[in-house]
Amino acid sequence: MIVVSNNKYDYLIVGAGVFGSVCAHELTKQGKRCLVIDSRNHIGGNCYTENINDIHVHKYGAHIFHTNDKKLWDYINQFAEFKQYTHNVIANYKDEMYTLPFNMWTFNQMWGVNTPEEAKQKIESQKFKGEITNLEEQAMSMVGTDIYNKLIKGYTEKQWNRPCTSLPPSIIKRLPVRFTWDSNYFNDKYTGIPIGGYTQIFEKMLEGIDTLLNSDYFQHKDYYDSIADKVIYTGPIDKFFNYQYGKLEYKSLRWETEKLEQDNFQGNPVINYTDSEVPYTRILEHKWFDPQSQKGTIISREYPTDYDGTNEPYYPIRDNKNTDIYNKYQELTKGLDKYIFGGRLGSYVYYDMHQVIAQALLKIMSFNQKNYQ
Ligand code: FAD
Repeated sequence: MIVVSNNKYDYLIVGAGVFGSVCAHELTKQGKRCLVIDSRNHIGGNCYTENINDIHVHKYGAHIFHTNDKKLWDYINQFAEFKQYTHNVIANYKDEMYTLPFNMWTFNQMWGVNTPEEAKQKIESQKFKGEITNLEEQAMSMVGTDIYNKLIKGYTEKQWNRPCTSLPPSIIKRLPVRFTWDSNYFNDKYTGIPIGGYTQIFEKMLEGIDTLLNSDYFQHKDYYDSIADKVIYTGPIDKFFNYQYGKLEYKSLRWETEKLEQDNFQGNPVINYTDSEVPYTRILEHKWFDPQSQKGTIISREYPTDYDGTNEPYYPIRDNKNTDIYNKYQELTKGLDKYIFGGRLGSYVYYDMHQVIAQALLKIMSFNQKNYQ
């Protein structure tokens, strides 16, 4: 049934995403024998890119590597050459085009103002000034009604499938509002895209390591557990414990991908569609992440969807109810020496790639410290 080169491993690693692959790579370097399994038909988890006509298609949404930590930047650069990349996002509201995140370009396009003082006055004149009880009021208190109505309301309601008046203000509290002409989405010191896509990074991390694809841990859990001393699990934590405290909630997404003959569809990697009539939230045009004069183009329309247990859990919904459930699962992990939980789903936290690398490296360091005690 299962063909592996070795019938006993130090570590079984469930998930060939960032967490699983970094653990496998580092443990193998230390002489440990690892088996990596993934239920998908490819490695890389949500960072996987598929090469179609030399266009590296971000199959699970736009992925930009960004960090302020030089060590993490150097770490990822071992596995691929990165090109410097500035993420500029554009919003299309009923064919009016705006620059995001909100900055002097947006204010100029919205109101024709040219100075930070004029922009501040415009916002002040439209600001919500009462007690804030929901996302709508929070947004209007930060940017006024015009920007809220054109650039926030429709987009956010599509994302959450709920009216902004029933969403908590906290979701939007960290909304960047800049009174400069800087439209670079990320402020990090290091931002890049791997030349040649992300998948090569995982191929290099997993080189020489036994890896089984299309293999769901839960289908043969007893067998997998029996062939390894320790199990590193990066899948959903509630599933591991058979949902005994209830199901955790996630937001999901789906993409409709299309190959087009034309060379340039929208001239930018990401355009957000912020009105409520357009059913998708964004269109990605993959070639612009790493343009190499490829012929034709590939676009993906991104649709937010509810997570129903059959699609992919992308974003943990870390509200009080789910945090309480997660804490109970986390309590259960404490007595389980054989199992190690990590990554986005194992920790039920929305982590960026660099944060998952940091989490995996710290975890490996903690194993080593235990071995010396
Ligand atoms: P995953 O990538 O989810 O890997 C877990 C793996 O475990 C999966 O391959 C899954 O198939 C496998 N698995 C689960 N259960 C089982 C099982 N029972 N048996 C076998 N295998 C199993 N980060 C950034 O830094 N920059 C970005 O721009 C960015 N954009 C993003 C856009 C979107 C739409 C999303 C969803 C995420 C984005 N991220 C971004 C976050 C990034 O994808 C994650 O940080 C990273 O993928 C997390 O790695 P992971 O190993 O924790 O999880």
